[in-house]
Formats: sequence, C-alpha cells, structure tokens
Amino acid sequence: MGVFPDPLLQLIRGLGELPGVGEQTAERLAFHILQGGKDEALALARAIQEVKEKLKACRICNAVSLESTCAICADTTRDRGLILVVESERELAAFERMGRWQGTYHVLGARGVAGNRIHLEELRASLAGEVKALLERCRAGVREVILATNPDKRGDLTLSLLEEALGREKLPLSRLARGLPQGAHIEWLGAPVLEEALEQRRALRGEGAS
Ligand SMILES: [Zn+2]
Repeated sequence: MGVFPDPLLQLIRGLGELPGVGEQTAERLAFHILQGGKDEALALARAIQEVKEKLKACRICNAVSLESTCAICADTTRDRGLILVVESERELAAFERMGRWQGTYHVLGARGVAGNRIHLEELRASLAGEVKALLERCRAGVREVILATNPDKRGDLTLSLLEEALGREKLPLSRLARGLPQGAHIEWLGAPVLEEALEQRRALRGEGAS
C-alpha cells in the first residue's frame, strides 16, 4: 500500500477498520470513492461527521437520538410502564418494523465489545452503566420488563446478567419465547416470528408473562 499517496492510504486504513471489510475490499472501496462523483463522496463524509457530532444517547432509554429524549420516549401514546430491553438499536428497529409494540425500550448498547468471543466479566463491565440506569428506571415505576436478547452466546450471557441484576427487583420480568433459532439475530427475523416470540413471552419472575 506504500505506493499510494497519504490521503488515499488513510482512507484505505479507515475503511479497513470497519467490521467485515478486509484489506482488498477497503482498497476497492477507496478507489470507488476516489473515482466516483465528488458530491456523493462529500455527502458520505458529511453523513459520517453528523452521525458523530449530532447524535446522542436518549437520557431515558439510551437509544441513539437527535434530541436528549428520543422520539419513542417523547411519544405520550407509548406505554411507559412496559420496557423491552434490547442489546442494540438494530433490534429496536426490528421491533419497530414489526409495528405492534406499544411500550418503550431500553438499549443496552455494549459498544465496542466483539461478537461471540465475548467473556462474561468483559460484558458485565461494559454493561454496568446501562444496567444501573435500567434498574433506576424500573424502581421509578414500571409494570413489566421484557428481556429481548439475541439467541446467541453474547445474548445468552446478557440475559443471565440481566436476570441476576433485575431478579432481586419486585417487578414482573419476562423473556422472549423460546423457539427463536439459535444463532439467529433478532434483526433478521420476520415480523410474524418476532410478534409470536413477544406474545408468548415467558415469565422469569412475577406475573409478567401473558
Ligand atoms: Zn428514549
């Protein structure tokens, strides 16, 4: 790569750090940007800048938001007594696409922690702040908390950490119905599957499950 001018080299390096992008793909993408239209490339650069500069975490649910309170938390028609706990915004988006959930969310967002190589203590440390925020939210008055973790190693570890943290609280706690294919990701599942998993949720304690 030493033959390329420095700005191009920087772009290739930057792209190469994205998940799933190897060196060759990074090079191909960089040349695509270099040789493509200037307006499109600058719009992409601006979008990256705005995402980093303008977005923040919702003060209630931790979802990414333009305002300090996200659109869902600010929506008075949503049932604030119900919290669906998800690992990231990608699952939140899947449930919103399903269109049947009228409660709110809590986004754990263990950012920067890599997929299936995750260890329990590493995950516990990365989630500590958000688990504490969720606990405070629960204590302020919630009717039911539903844990909607992904059916994979990381999701299972997250589920046991949450059960441990929330199990002592006197509130109905439930999880999605079993039957989601192991290793599948919530964001890939169709609306009917998600809706069924939510409707047939299982109580972990209290009277949360329907
Ligand atoms: Zn929110």
